[in-house]
Amino acid sequence: TKQHGRNNFHFYQAGMGESQIQENQLVSAMHQALRNQEFCLYYQPKFSAPTGAIIGFEALIRWQHPEKGLLAPDSFLPCAEKYGLIIAVGSWVLDEACRQLAQWHAQGATHWSVAVNLSALQLAQPGLVAQVLACLEKYQLPPDVLTLEITETSAINNPQESASRLAQLKARGVKISIDDFGTGYANLLYLKALPASELKIDRAFIIDTDPGSQNTAIVALIIDLARSLKLNVVAEGVETEAQKDFFTGLGCDVLQGYLLGKPLPAQSVIPFFWER
Ligand code: C2E
Ligand code: CA
Ligand code: CA
Ligand code: CA
Repeated sequence: TKQHGRNNFHFYQAGMGESQIQENQLVSAMHQALRNQEFCLYYQPKFSAPTGAIIGFEALIRWQHPEKGLLAPDSFLPCAEKYGLIIAVGSWVLDEACRQLAQWHAQGATHWSVAVNLSALQLAQPGLVAQVLACLEKYQLPPDVLTLEITETSAINNPQESASRLAQLKARGVKISIDDFGTGYANLLYLKALPASELKIDRAFIIDTDPGSQNTAIVALIIDLARSLKLNVVAEGVETEAQKDFFTGLGCDVLQGYLLGKPLPAQSVIPFFWER
């Protein structure tokens, strides 16, 4: 290690590089963030495509960092996943989203649902089913107002156990959504094996849906496939009127995107709803 030179010596001595040190700092900052309640959830509305009504919200985590300001999940979740901290963070997300939804229900919006993103590591936890059911019980929520969004790839490590956990949740009424569909490695048989109730078409397909683009044919095919598997179809990342019309025309059930509503802090959700 000494051949790396005097200046680098103290890094290598501890068996770690500079990026390792940064990761360690991020991990301890996230532990502190959990203790100090620096994480918060933003809520992005999901709309019924045929009626335009708000049907619920996707909870998206943010970190209100004391020095760096509001941080997006891409800047800290990969590290949380790598070091297992996503279990504690994800438990907090589930609890907070259910707590908030119960509050909105108490204010009269009893038809609203909430979707929570689940990481691969959370899905690999044997206690997941009990945890989710306990959380619904804690806030007196019927299971069908909770959707768990998983990605195609997150269930692949342990397909049988993941599928059986999801099936147990689905049997209790919790909805399972396949997020970012079309970007992973999953084949169609695998999709059939997952006990899903909803499929979210990845934004990558939605960006380029000009007439004549190959994406339009792919998207039409995905929607057909979802129909035959009796899955609801969500188009996410809808940014233009043309995209909205395109997906509504193809029979998409649910629309989500900046055009219709950006992720909002919890306290802005009810005012947003009344303004419409
Ligand atoms: P995702 O689950 O695919 O969430 C959609 C992302 O697209 C969100 O980014 C959302 O703000 C953004 N988005 C929504 N509509 C539009 C649009 O019209 N245009 C564009 N350009 N973007 C749009 P965000 O909040 O930064 O989240 C990024 C990813 O981080 C999420 O992707 C999800 O995979 C992950 N994530 C967020 N919160 C959680 C969480 O609580 N737990 C876990 N495990 N993952 C989370
Ligand atoms: Ca999602
Ligand atoms: Ca997505
Ligand atoms: Ca994504």
